[in-house]
Amino acid sequence: MSKKRPDLSTLKPETRIVAAGREYAEHGMVNPAVYHASTVLYPTVKSLHDESQTYSYGREGTPTSRAFETAIATLEGGHDAAVFPSGAAAISATLLAFLKTGDHLLMVDTAYHRTRKFCDGLLKGLGIETTYYDPLIGRGISALIRPNTRIVFCESPGSQTMEVQDIPAIADEAHKKSCLVFIDNTWSAGLYFNAFAHGCDVSIQAATKYIVGHSDAMLGVTTCNKETWPQFKEAYLLMGQFAGPDDSYLALRGLRTLDVRLERHQRNAMTLAEWLRGRSEVETVLYPALSNDPSYQIWKRDFTGACGLFSVVLKPTSKQSVAAMLDDLALFGMGYSWGGFESLVVPFRPHRTATTWTAQGPCLRFHIGLENTDDLIDDLKQGFARLKKTS
Ligand SMILES: *Cc1c(COP(=O)(O)O)cnc(C)c1O
Repeated sequence: MSKKRPDLSTLKPETRIVAAGREYAEHGMVNPAVYHASTVLYPTVKSLHDESQTYSYGREGTPTSRAFETAIATLEGGHDAAVFPSGAAAISATLLAFLKTGDHLLMVDTAYHRTRKFCDGLLKGLGIETTYYDPLIGRGISALIRPNTRIVFCESPGSQTMEVQDIPAIADEAHKKSCLVFIDNTWSAGLYFNAFAHGCDVSIQAATKYIVGHSDAMLGVTTCNKETWPQFKEAYLLMGQFAGPDDSYLALRGLRTLDVRLERHQRNAMTLAEWLRGRSEVETVLYPALSNDPSYQIWKRDFTGACGLFSVVLKPTSKQSVAAMLDDLALFGMGYSWGGFESLVVPFRPHRTATTWTAQGPCLRFHIGLENTDDLIDDLKQGFARLKKTS
């Protein structure tokens, strides 16, 4: 673009996601090219040695990956970001970048199940101890911080059960004791929760979800503040992390429409959540945007919106009747991941060690897509009729 670039830091998030990273487009194109690259050529021996060239090797970044990374860092309000081949890769590698043998990690009890597995497996094997903590701990986190605690890891709302954490309180206590605060910010897509403004040092997202937004690519991204960026970037390069150019491009393309998609996901999810709340088969709906949700106050204080992902606890019923309900749904697919244009549902049992899950009935996690909500409700009505018939 030959025109003057706007100062994005002064603009609203909706404007930033449209404008960010566009400086990597060339020849007047709106979008950057998809650079498939390994070797990058140098014009002279001098340029080979003096590290003056912006791009040095495919794995270390291309205009396509930099456009995506710059756009995410701009969206999140961080210093800079780096792309990974999946959300799980971003979480694992970012933890490894800051932890060493003998360190202690505080991990939220409602972490994504793979994050838990990584802590209980690979980190444990390296002599890095993890303590799980109640997502609603707030300032109480202070009592769990030891001299060797390096990181307090948050995920808000929590995976499956949707507890919203008091991040400013946790970050305040963690920083008093020189701990870093990481967050898995996937639920908000970086648009509805500003992790850095609320005290986080590092924000990680499974871009696989809403940023890609179409269930057709996997990608992770880690955004750091200025202080954590150098240590993170060095480890990122040492671990040989990168992601393919087509996936980075798809994520950048998804990002441009994030705001309009999320607005509809949110509206549809609210309609479905309210409808489900009124059903006699439902014990509770776990969605922070509902005004009677226990997390509503903190969500309203810290978030600017809600995505299409929430859970419900059914009244106690048999496994067979849940299967009868779900197996024949026509519009709700059954499967992992979420954030695409389509509606999904999966049954789950919360796995908790620092807290106790007391609800008796089976749990379902819904992702509400962009379909018409009347059609979605009809599909679920028929599902509940099957549940009733078999229970
Ligand atoms: C899906 C998910 C991940 C992992 O992302 P992948 O791209 O599937 O590896 C991490 N955290 C949360 C909250 C997720 O929902």
